[in-house]
Amino acid sequence: MLHIDESDLQPLTIFHVGDIIRLISVTMRIKPIATLVVPLEVKEWFKRFCRHHDLIYFKDGPSDSYQTRVSVCVNEETKKLRKFLRSSKMEGGSLFVNIREKSNIAHEKKIVTDFLQMVNRLEGKMYGYPDCCVEFHAQKGPSSRAKAYEEFLESRRDQSVPVEFWAVAHAPCSSTCQETFALGRKYLGAVAEFSESLGRYVESRLLLPRFYQTGGGRFIDLQPLDYYRYREDLAVSKEQFEMEVRSRLPQPIEIVLCDVPKPYVLVEASEEPPYKTAFPNSDMIGTMWLAYTPEFGAYMVNARTGKLALYIISSKWIPKVGEEWRSKANFRICRSIKTAKKEEHIKM
Ligand SMILES: [Zn+2]
Repeated sequence: MLHIDESDLQPLTIFHVGDIIRLISVTMRIKPIATLVVPLEVKEWFKRFCRHHDLIYFKDGPSDSYQTRVSVCVNEETKKLRKFLRSSKMEGGSLFVNIREKSNIAHEKKIVTDFLQMVNRLEGKMYGYPDCCVEFHAQKGPSSRAKAYEEFLESRRDQSVPVEFWAVAHAPCSSTCQETFALGRKYLGAVAEFSESLGRYVESRLLLPRFYQTGGGRFIDLQPLDYYRYREDLAVSKEQFEMEVRSRLPQPIEIVLCDVPKPYVLVEASEEPPYKTAFPNSDMIGTMWLAYTPEFGAYMVNARTGKLALYIISSKWIPKVGEEWRSKANFRICRSIKTAKKEEHIKM
């Protein structure tokens, strides 16, 4: 993994790569606003960075013992508009749920649906997302994130996703969305212009394989390791792990030894042993044995300590989150490629 040359930018390595791209894109004034997960250990550095670059920042979502959610923008009006849109959704929260679930007056349901779609459209525009993707997301909701990843999979391009698709914050309307590709390229250009070494660092992080729980939404980056080079240092051998996995996941099982850097967000949840379902969680950082059955589930242990990091199967998890999250893209590793000057690559 590359490093960042500038010592004053070192704390950025603690951020998720997507958040680095969004922060720098706002700093370079090519993105109007971004909402980031800021790890608590670099919160003070983040505030200094914002002051230095004349960025306005404000709390924008829940905080916990790991992180806080913050939005950054460059003018007060953007901040006020963001707060207004967010509060319109939050304040309507339980009323909307009640009307959707209980009201038998069709036009009331339609008012709620239209209102939430309108707020989503305005938010999408405000964040600078492409119109095609904003409309798609407004119509289909959050689980539509999986669509582009399903398309990559179906067309056998899930091992060669253009890095631009992983540089954007929005859900692409399709795996061939030219607007998404162009926006991703623009963001990456802004990062490289801000700092050449940061640009190289960001690119190397985007090129790491990613393990997805749901298409597009929850993932961890991973650096595959050569077992024969590391096996002396491991508490859990390949054979041991393979045996453990066979009683927990059905075939076809894929297994990988890997280093996992800190994920974009850390989730805490009350667990129901033998399952461990919080994804991504803090026990996943380090040298891991990861096994997964595509679409079905995953099992992961720390290879140096043997501690369980993840055990989740779709029949436990889908009932909790809803059938709309079931996707062929669940529980898979995607890989990305650089697409220098090859925009024709994603044309239909
Ligand atoms: Zn689009």
